[in-house]
Amino acid sequence: MNAQKCLDLLREIKDVAFATVSEDGKPQIRIIDVMLAENEKLYFCTARGKDFYRQLMASGDVAVTGLTKDWQMIRLDGRAEKLEDQKMWIDRIFEENPSMKGVYPGESRYILEPFCISEGQVEFFDLGKSPIYRAAFRLGSDIRTEKQNTDQSRNDRKAAEAVAPVKKGFLITDACIGCGKCAGLCPQQCIEPGTPYRIMQEHCLHCGLCFENCPVSAIEKRLENESAVRNCEKSGQNNENPDRAKKQQEKRDDL
Ligand code: SF4
Ligand code: SF4
Repeated sequence: MNAQKCLDLLREIKDVAFATVSEDGKPQIRIIDVMLAENEKLYFCTARGKDFYRQLMASGDVAVTGLTKDWQMIRLDGRAEKLEDQKMWIDRIFEENPSMKGVYPGESRYILEPFCISEGQVEFFDLGKSPIYRAAFRLGSDIRTEKQNTDQSRNDRKAAEAVAPVKKGFLITDACIGCGKCAGLCPQQCIEPGTPYRIMQEHCLHCGLCFENCPVSAIEKRLENESAVRNCEKSGQNNENPDRAKKQQEKRDDL
């Protein structure tokens, strides 16, 4: 799986949910056709009279999601930009999507404006597998799965962090005392023993059950940059709450 394959799946689904933000900050959503997906860019169009067009022009922040018949969910969030050379792009879109000729016959097609999402991140979430599988990619960056990120050398990891998607979910810190409670509770059985225990990120649901039940609060929400988490671990600090390290120690003392 990689960013382009995720976009290809959105193109295959074609009619996807497309969210924007209204002028008063409210979420707005509708079904939009994915017209093209190439070179890690997703293309669509809309008519100048629509609220959708106005919202795209006002902020450009978008979120897109679709589900395949095999329970593979793809989610993309990023920024949409109106493309130059409107006529060329609309003609190309109509060539690739002939059914559009029935909706906007003749010259009426030029009320449409072409847009492209080339910046953002895309997530793949396969619920059809057991355990589930997930991966995330930054559009336009090198292609890496969560596992590949984990396996890289330290130098490669630095380069990867510069282009890596936002890290979500949870991370087990060095405060882990190895009690195994989280592994026993995990619905996907994706926590393996070790010092500390380790979450197999590519199979994690991000449900938070381990986080809520660790007796020493050794499980943290992941930050955008995982190196910050590692630095926090080294210095004994916590990335969410400065009092947490102290509380962790108190909990350990109570055990
Ligand atoms: S529940 Fe907490 S302390 Fe126990 S193994 Fe899991 S992370 Fe470590
Ligand atoms: S967040 Fe849920 S699925 Fe992920 S490791 Fe914790 S318990 Fe397992």
